[in-house]
Amino acid sequence: MLHVVGVGICEGHITERAAKIIGAAEIVFGSKKAIELASKYISGEVVEMKKFCGEVYREIEKISSKKNVVVLSTGDPMVAGLGSKIDGVVESGISSVQLALAKLREDLCNCVVVDAHSRDASGDFDLIEKRNLLILADRNFDPKVFGSRKVAIIENICGKERFKICLAEEAEVKSDYAIVYVWK
Ligand code: SAH
Repeated sequence: MLHVVGVGICEGHITERAAKIIGAAEIVFGSKKAIELASKYISGEVVEMKKFCGEVYREIEKISSKKNVVVLSTGDPMVAGLGSKIDGVVESGISSVQLALAKLREDLCNCVVVDAHSRDASGDFDLIEKRNLLILADRNFDPKVFGSRKVAIIENICGKERFKICLAEEAEVKSDYAIVYVWK
């Protein structure tokens, strides 16, 4: 059995359903951060994932044919997470996207979500002509490409949070865990 379980972003985001699934697992895989968030619910063996690639995912799938395995995914597994990469049953979690929208009081249906975390997303930027953009960003992302539009920068939600609303040309991303919201 293989579950890919969302553990949320902040302490306390794990649902009762997720806690039950995590507690029943014989082996729990996850990043350091995901394991920390789920630690009080884990009773099986813990394996910290250091590499995130197809080879590792296939190996985990193989192990799950004999054991009850959980792979933890920070936030929600279906938001730039492991849910589309590992062949398991997905248990939803609370995403950084939801937390940012709540902070901004913006509805998800009013924007397009773009993944610019460790990837070049410049091909999607012209969507701003039609829709607001919610960008999953790291420190390599430069908001200045959006010129005089209004942006919100939200970094390290739940940690040493930084929240700023300003013009894109005055904005910068300082953390690898940032949401940039751009109004069209
Ligand atoms: N599955 C995760 C996203 C993983 S991709 C989720 O549902 O949230 C990593 C991106 O998520 C980061 O580039 C950032 O955009 C966002 N993110 C993750 N943790 C964050 C945090 N604590 N504060 C702000 N953004 C965060």
